[in-house]
Amino acid sequence: MEIQLQMRTPLWTGGIETGKMDRIHASGIIGGLRWWYEVIVRGLGGEVCDPTASQCLYDPNASNNGLCAVCQVFGATGWRRRFRLQIDDQTGATWNTPSDTLNVRPPDRSRGWFLPPGRMGSLTLTLHGDQKTLRQMAALFLFLEQWGNIGAKPQLGYGLFQLDPKKRTELFQLVQEPESQSQADVWKAGDNALQSKLPDLRRFGFFRFRFQPERSDWWSHIDGLERLMGRRDTAQALQALLRHKLIPVMPAFKNAWRFQHWQGPFREQKNLFGTVGGQNERIRSKVAISWAYQHQDVWEIRGWVWLPEQNDSFGQQLWKIICSTDVWCEILNVQQGALETWPDTPIFASRSSAAVQDWVTVRQ
Ligand SMILES: [Zn+2]
Repeated sequence: MEIQLQMRTPLWTGGIETGKMDRIHASGIIGGLRWWYEVIVRGLGGEVCDPTASQCLYDPNASNNGLCAVCQVFGATGWRRRFRLQIDDQTGATWNTPSDTLNVRPPDRSRGWFLPPGRMGSLTLTLHGDQKTLRQMAALFLFLEQWGNIGAKPQLGYGLFQLDPKKRTELFQLVQEPESQSQADVWKAGDNALQSKLPDLRRFGFFRFRFQPERSDWWSHIDGLERLMGRRDTAQALQALLRHKLIPVMPAFKNAWRFQHWQGPFREQKNLFGTVGGQNERIRSKVAISWAYQHQDVWEIRGWVWLPEQNDSFGQQLWKIICSTDVWCEILNVQQGALETWPDTPIFASRSSAAVQDWVTVRQ
């Protein structure tokens, strides 16, 4: 199965050296695929082991060989991954100067965000495996094109992509095999209850904002970007980004949402928005927002939020901020835009597994 994709925001797969990426690493792509696969199967109430606790161990005498739905596909100790991935890389560094990270620092921050260049361009992934596994992977890629990303750093807006239209049709056909009436068998569903500690699609909200700015330099007054114009190397990076029709608005949003709009105790703030902290204290952000990318005449930004059930009121507050078109326009300095959210209600509610099944069902 061949998957051709074009990056919309930079691809980051990590590298040998922390913070550097010499080429695309398959392990970074597989790691990201596995993470999303876990989120989806958990959302369907399926069996997924907790990677931070006890992972599955292959046991030919146990039911399902002792493997959860995810380990069956992605492998576990004693059990090989069910597909092989080959990468044909036609990407290039998003910018070359500065050679390391771009520090986007809104005026009221002392540190800001450090963005590695990652890679833009197109790539072809070839997957080898049995028909059932390829069908699952096809469904996964169709889902990720619309709602997720490939590679690492989704929280910082990396890895959004677009499938080649012809290849997309082929993936659709593979998922909707003529003889199968239902797609329910693509994923391994079940009746497991929500667990608050692990990301689960039943507790995910998604959003997309589209706008058509009147001025082509609409981005120049966004918090943290103006400063980049003042230095030769960072201004060059911005020029390279503009050629890719890409604006890193993510820091301005995270900064405004976290420090100007959301209010609550510091502990809850760290839980929702994450912290780099020390090694033991690191919490990943539960909010992911992309960079702005231009699609035909329209600029688009999208992302998701995982709102665990506990401490619901603080999560609800964040969802309400995300659902405010006024806040989007204010951060972007634009007059208007079209905001869509899933669910499309200002109060966030858990979805049922049946609703998630409907959500992940592939339609032409
Ligand atoms: Zn497992």
